[in-house]
Amino acid sequence: MTDKHAFQAETKSLLRLMIHSLYSNKEIFLRELISNASDACDKLRFEAISRPELMGTDELAVEIIPDKAAGTLTIRDNGIGMTREDMVAHLGTIARSGTREFMSKLSGDQAKDAQLIGQFGVGFYSSFIVADDVTVRSRRAGTDEATEWSSKGEGEFEVQPCEKATSGTDVILKVREDDKEFLEASRLSFIVRKYSDHIGLPIRIRDDKGELETLNQARAFWTRPKSELKDEDYQAFYKHLAHDFEEPLSWAHHKVEGNLEYTSLIYIPRRASFELWNREAHQGLHLYVKRVFIMDKAAELLPPYLRFVRGLVDTADLPLNVSREILQGSRTTEKIKAALVKRVLDLLDDMAEKKPEDYKVFWNTFGSVLKEGVVEDTANSERIAKLLRMASTKDPAGELTSLPEYVKRMTEAQKSIYFLTTESLTAARSSPHLEGFAKRGLEVLLLTDRIDEWVVSNLTQFDGKPLKSVAQGAAELDDVVETAEQAQQESSFKDVFERVKAVLEDRVQEVQLSKRLTDSPSCLVAPDFGMSRRLEKMLAQGGE
Ligand code: ADP
Ligand code: MG
Repeated sequence: MTDKHAFQAETKSLLRLMIHSLYSNKEIFLRELISNASDACDKLRFEAISRPELMGTDELAVEIIPDKAAGTLTIRDNGIGMTREDMVAHLGTIARSGTREFMSKLSGDQAKDAQLIGQFGVGFYSSFIVADDVTVRSRRAGTDEATEWSSKGEGEFEVQPCEKATSGTDVILKVREDDKEFLEASRLSFIVRKYSDHIGLPIRIRDDKGELETLNQARAFWTRPKSELKDEDYQAFYKHLAHDFEEPLSWAHHKVEGNLEYTSLIYIPRRASFELWNREAHQGLHLYVKRVFIMDKAAELLPPYLRFVRGLVDTADLPLNVSREILQGSRTTEKIKAALVKRVLDLLDDMAEKKPEDYKVFWNTFGSVLKEGVVEDTANSERIAKLLRMASTKDPAGELTSLPEYVKRMTEAQKSIYFLTTESLTAARSSPHLEGFAKRGLEVLLLTDRIDEWVVSNLTQFDGKPLKSVAQGAAELDDVVETAEQAQQESSFKDVFERVKAVLEDRVQEVQLSKRLTDSPSCLVAPDFGMSRRLEKMLAQGGE
């Protein structure tokens, strides 16, 4: 009944890489195994919603059992457990999509690499950092058969039936000679407190006298009162939740009671996840119903333009058996979503005002995503427009400006907010379209992001002032500075216009005396309500 299986070729190199690259950060193996144990308990709690008989009488918990005499460390949980097939599939192959990417992302920076392990779902293999032999005994809740999986991490693993009285999983590590520190109860307690304090179920250690001691608060982090939580706590929880090695830029924790009852904890990350630009990847918040984990990446709780936000919602107002389909059509979801949007925008306003340096980091990382909101979220588009940052002719040093700042600087006669969309700042600064504006001291916003074209075609006004492209229409400059001389010139050039028009025939609509040029002899302009040159170009490219 003993089966030998070979690890996939990739598993072997992954194991070697992992052991090699994390030698000075070995303790993270415990974080990963506790995280798996805690996931297993979450899964059992979730399945027990429809099959209550699966839940035993014991409280769900994780036990850490060092045994110096045997040289082993056991991590035990009474969660969902695994069948023989589960073990072969989950502990023997790492074909799951993230692995190759994980290996390509290893940077040599141990702190970063340690966090990557959790992010890419290869945590179990970190056992081999400290163990030269790993045995897993597991019994799936609701079944009678238990299976033992074992491996020395050198290319193959074995599976065979075994005895196990209760459902759940024991991971037994034969600790390497050099790593005996991981059999010391004090060392283990220290690590658990460091990484797992916020885990919502008890984590206990069996000390040298054989007694069990609970190491953590064993309360879901977000249910603890805000007054009790320090910045470091929020940061640590973020790293756990988002599998990020960087601290978040900011966060907001709310408990809402009354009509709707929920807790939300949202974070603005400092760094884009590798999924940010992958439209197929699900993104979103974790959803809990009355402390029971329901799903991660619940995209329905935030609009797509806020997909960079991490965090969770725990509510009493959705059924435990809620599915993505139910979420999509639910009034509760809509209400929570609207409140969350407001909170994220509040967070961003606050950051922009009080921590401009942080806001710069945010803008450089997520600005292009937030811009989608100007178009997609019409109810909030003016608020989002305030958060936009852009280059401008007023600040050639490259500092970005905002629409409210632009409006403050507008001259008295100026009626519109002027912008130019181009491919690059260099192209923008040498554009003949800007000459007349520069001469008259009028500020022009320089928009170089691909999405800007789309944004300005939807954001037609800000603070009651129309947004106008400098490349479109000509009339505006007249209003700002009208000269008698201009009118005179106009009539004296009449013949020239007619000649030019005759030569260009249908290729132009109109030939006019330009007020926007000072040095260049001529330029092409789009009519007021036509497509801009750049949009025309983009459409032409797309059609190829
Ligand atoms: P991840 O946790 O990101 O999925 P891991 O390598 O840590 O990646 O674990 C691989 C898989 O092995 C898990 O997804 C789970 O299916 C299974 N597994 C690991 N540990 C346990 C456990 N204690 N109980 C039940 N299943 C487990
Ligand atoms: Mg894991």
